[in-house]
Amino acid sequence: MTAKIADVVVLGGGVVGCATAYYLGKEGKQVIIIERESVGSHSSGFAYGALSPLGGDGIPGPLLPLTIAAMKLHLGLSLSLPQETGIDIQFRLKPTLSLAFAEEEAERLKANFLWQQKQHGYQVEWLEAKELNDLDPRISSKALGGVYTEGTAEVDSYRFILALAQAAEKYGTVIRHGEIRGLEKDGGGIKVILASGEIVCQEAVLAMGPWTGSASRWLGQPVPIEPLKGEILRLQAPGPPLQSVIGWAGNYASTKPDALIWAGTTEEKVGFDEIPTHAARDKIMRALLNMLPALGEAQLIRQTACLRPYCVDGLPIIGQAYGWESVYLATGAGRKGILLGPLMGRIVADMILKRDIDMPVQPFSPTRFARTKETD
Ligand SMILES: Cc1cc2nc3c(=O)[nH]c(=O)nc-3n(C[C@H](O)[C@H](O)[C@H](O)COP(=O)(O)OP(=O)(O)OC[C@H]3O[C@@H](n4cnc5c(N)ncnc54)[C@H](O)[C@@H]3O)c2cc1C
Repeated sequence: MTAKIADVVVLGGGVVGCATAYYLGKEGKQVIIIERESVGSHSSGFAYGALSPLGGDGIPGPLLPLTIAAMKLHLGLSLSLPQETGIDIQFRLKPTLSLAFAEEEAERLKANFLWQQKQHGYQVEWLEAKELNDLDPRISSKALGGVYTEGTAEVDSYRFILALAQAAEKYGTVIRHGEIRGLEKDGGGIKVILASGEIVCQEAVLAMGPWTGSASRWLGQPVPIEPLKGEILRLQAPGPPLQSVIGWAGNYASTKPDALIWAGTTEEKVGFDEIPTHAARDKIMRALLNMLPALGEAQLIRQTACLRPYCVDGLPIIGQAYGWESVYLATGAGRKGILLGPLMGRIVADMILKRDIDMPVQPFSPTRFARTKETD
């Protein structure tokens, strides 16, 4: 059965999909989100929730203007979303401390720290080993120093996406349960094919996280997104809460508002397997004890695993699909999807609304993977 129901169908109810619906709904568009499980049932609901624009793969580079703008958007949402929904998203400013244990690590951190210091809205300083001890005596005495950044923040990922989804519903979005099987052009619009039925709409946004790669078949062009599994331990430990997010070599630990220390993480290329493993638990514990040996007595309360949408070139994919004027892709945020998700949703909403976009988004265009006549 075919029926025209929506202006825009958003495929996937993660942070990117819910943010897209939120920004479109606010501007009066009739939106349906199709989600086969429930909103935030994958990485968007289980991520640590760090908002750290100045660090990570691809930074500095084309990602930096995006992460900086994404942080500004979060600062606004930290005020508006609780007002719109009554949900406490547990946004809080929280410094980040990146540790160095080897000279090369210290040199790398110090090189970054030179441009990081120039970013407006952040205070970045190098701390020597003695200052690390003053900050928190639980930090390993083997650390040579570290970069301490103020201006970073965190949210509770699940509450955040719930708030986005509820605010989107408030503006008229309908969240519909369903398994998406494909897409077809339908006159000037798009037919979204579900396991049970079809929906015809003006525009479709593909935001299926690590599963967006299946759109390669539907669109007839590469959508090189892969799942990158990551795991987190939630631990109970004696002593005061950790006041900053303490990180080293891609690992991190901090105390969340549930009073547990959340420690991560792994990067596992194991397909769509979301089962927590002993190997990941041991790897995260080793990294945690390297940073904070005093946490040896911590007790494991919960271990979670989920999949990041990872693009082969490490950059997100945002924009119109090649040769499909009514289909947009918004995925591939990798380790930064909670930070970038709202901005990715807003950019796609602006594209659909034919508004100017006030930042360089060409590096993220899906057409970078499409074979065009010029490249043939
Ligand atoms: C361990 C870990 C820690 C993280 N920590 C942070 C952090 O601290 N800060 C940060 O910024 N980011 C973090 N991230 C990254 C972040 O979680 C992700 O980048 C982000 O959640 C991806 O959101 P998404 O909306 O693209 O995808 P998802 O959250 O995966 O949502 C996609 C949705 O689409 C649905 N879907 C897929 N296929 C179909 C289909 N065929 N039919 C219907 N529905 C479908 C899925 O069910 C899913 O709900 C972390 C990730 C991990 C794994």
